[in-house]
Amino acid sequence: MPMIAAFSLKSLDFFRLSTFTTLEVGARYFLFAGVAWLLGYGLFRRRWFHRKIIARLPQSADVRREIGYSVLTLFIFGLMGAGTIYVSKLGWTQMYWRPDERGWGWFWGSVAAAIVLHDTYFYWTHRLMHHPKIFGPFHRVHHLSTNPSPWAAYSFAPLEAVVEAGIFPLTVCVMPIHPLAFGLVMLWQITFNVLGHTGYEFHPKWLMDSWLGKLLNTPTNHVQHHEKMKGNYGLYFNVWDRLMGTNHPDYEARFREVTTRPKTDAVG
Ligand SMILES: [Zn+2]
Ligand SMILES: [Zn+2]
Repeated sequence: MPMIAAFSLKSLDFFRLSTFTTLEVGARYFLFAGVAWLLGYGLFRRRWFHRKIIARLPQSADVRREIGYSVLTLFIFGLMGAGTIYVSKLGWTQMYWRPDERGWGWFWGSVAAAIVLHDTYFYWTHRLMHHPKIFGPFHRVHHLSTNPSPWAAYSFAPLEAVVEAGIFPLTVCVMPIHPLAFGLVMLWQITFNVLGHTGYEFHPKWLMDSWLGKLLNTPTNHVQHHEKMKGNYGLYFNVWDRLMGTNHPDYEARFREVTTRPKTDAVG
């Protein structure tokens, strides 16, 4: 989005705008998931395996499905991202174009506010999509990954991809935000999304005994969600799950088990 925002609306039509947006979202996905795959499932597989939350490797058929659905998601994100920029250029949203227009304090404040908004939006839409009446068409595809790989980050059915992309128009409608600030939020998003699906717990074991462990979400939390299908609906923070009492009863015990395993060379 930031790269694209530099263009004027006159210089490109909607087709070109959505092509650029799809390529940008796709580059981010393949770079981040690719690096995580290379490190966690290639270079450091042996060294890190004792921290693999589910102690076996995902099947290749699962990885192929995750990449396939993620590519479909890229097109939907590209279209909805382009639509959001298009209507913003028409002045229908609160997006602003000169970074100094509202000061750098607000620039960084908007990054933090958009992250909190996304976390809240994700928690509630995620819980809604677990409702038995709509789970099938919206969220079943994401849960086909019971032992996710980093490629599962965007493995959504098209209907869920539309819901997830809803954060683009929602953010620019509810708060003034510069495209570069939104781009930083998307970098944060792909980082924690990929880390949550890579399947390794990288946090130190003391985290759960500190206030940070109550605040931050962990890969163990999300992998356990894929494993159990119930509980642990959060994204970046553990606050909504704690407030609503939706953490899996074994979440903290599972985190402690994963983070206290002895180092081993065995790979499952
Ligand atoms: Zn779910
Ligand atoms: Zn997931």
